[in-house]
Amino acid sequence: MKDKYEAVIGLEVHAQLKTKTKMFCGCKNEFTNEPNIHVCPVCLGMPGSLPVINKKAVELAVKAALALNCKIHKKSIFARKHYFYPDLPKNYQITQYEEPFATDGYLIIEKKDGTKKKIRIKRIHMEEDAGKNIHEEHFSKVDLNRAGVPLIEIVSEPDISDPEEARLYMQKLRDILVWIGVTDGNLEEGSLRCDANVSIRPKGSKELGTKVEIKNLNSFRFIEKALRYEINRQIEAVKKGEKIIQETRLYDSQKDITKSMRTKEEAEDYRYFPDPDLPPLIIEDEWLEEIKASLGELPDEFKERVIKEYKIKEYDADILSRDKTLAYFFEEAAKSYKGEAQRVSNIILSDLLGILKEEKIELKDVPFPASYIGELLNLVDENIISLRVAKEEVLPEMVKTGKSPKVIVEEKGLKQISDTSEIEKIIKESFKNNPKAVKQYKIGDERKKQKAVQFFIGQVMKATKGKANPKLARDLIIKLLEEEN
Ligand SMILES: [Zn+2]
Repeated sequence: MKDKYEAVIGLEVHAQLKTKTKMFCGCKNEFTNEPNIHVCPVCLGMPGSLPVINKKAVELAVKAALALNCKIHKKSIFARKHYFYPDLPKNYQITQYEEPFATDGYLIIEKKDGTKKKIRIKRIHMEEDAGKNIHEEHFSKVDLNRAGVPLIEIVSEPDISDPEEARLYMQKLRDILVWIGVTDGNLEEGSLRCDANVSIRPKGSKELGTKVEIKNLNSFRFIEKALRYEINRQIEAVKKGEKIIQETRLYDSQKDITKSMRTKEEAEDYRYFPDPDLPPLIIEDEWLEEIKASLGELPDEFKERVIKEYKIKEYDADILSRDKTLAYFFEEAAKSYKGEAQRVSNIILSDLLGILKEEKIELKDVPFPASYIGELLNLVDENIISLRVAKEEVLPEMVKTGKSPKVIVEEKGLKQISDTSEIEKIIKESFKNNPKAVKQYKIGDERKKQKAVQFFIGQVMKATKGKANPKLARDLIIKLLEEEN
């Protein structure tokens, strides 16, 4: 980072909560391209309409805060934040300001080199989303389907030191929130949005520089790229003796630059005050305990446990722990397999996911239970089929039909050939067709001998369409080659 300067980054992440209805009214909370179909007097800001708190939204918000190690405050206050913009029909947004429901959390990111870093979370508050303005050439349109959708805003401390850490923080945050079912985490649809505050300072300095806010970071890649650009921009400006001004900048992903949008409003411009229509939010201890109990295992806990319990590689555990469906699919499969669980992880991560990607099927829609993966590998261990047949013939058929591996092996006649005389016949036939290789074995050194054996294994597999028991075939080939001499 141009060695003399360091960056100080804090992220503000908005996550849409996965509720059926909006934060303060009964309108559907659903992403749709048809504008203004989920609206009512409350979210349209009609005079006389009154908000009612969505209990499910509070529950999900508390769940998120617990998973992020926050302190939950028994009492919090909803406030009005005023600004005038067409996407905000009430002319104020209901949010939490001085008394948010959760503070003082953290999450741990793991960098490429394996080092871990704790990023503190300053606060989480609940609020409602605004609508969406769609700007066209000569006019603008507004869609209020999103107005009043429940959000949490997660504000980190400025503990992030470079663009990579920012991306890792965002990814980890998404993984956790999706895992516990709080949000669907879809960045493109805007259900997870990120703004970054970034400043630079001389390396080692304790003072904070003037911060710039960057908006519109709607992909993990953009977060990293936009910050990289902005940090360089600030360093170049300071080197030229310019002053950094406090402002909001927009990331233009096409040009890969940030550009000034507006100078930053001061907090008092919003004229925050407690919303007189809403009582203080009280989270009773009993309810909090219930939510805690419903939280279940978190990704990091899962990861640690499977490494210990199933002795799989940390790399695999890391991938599994990023997706709850995948994680528990693996565990179900591993439970039904008699051998080493690492093999289950291998076949799921490299073979099954590959097939699913090709067939454009999501794991949750796979038509067979995870235990079939265990059964499939059991068939390999019992020498009923070879691993190659398992991966290339049976597994794709399982994805297609949902049938059990046993049934598929039976129906397609994939059973391994373990009949000695039958394999011998095939070997002798291939000796006759390949006298050169037989000779190579006879006169060659150890390396040449091995090569000849490999060659005949290949021949036998080809002749049997991979169904010959590979160990038996190998033993017989060596025995018969020796006899030829
Ligand atoms: Zn409504």
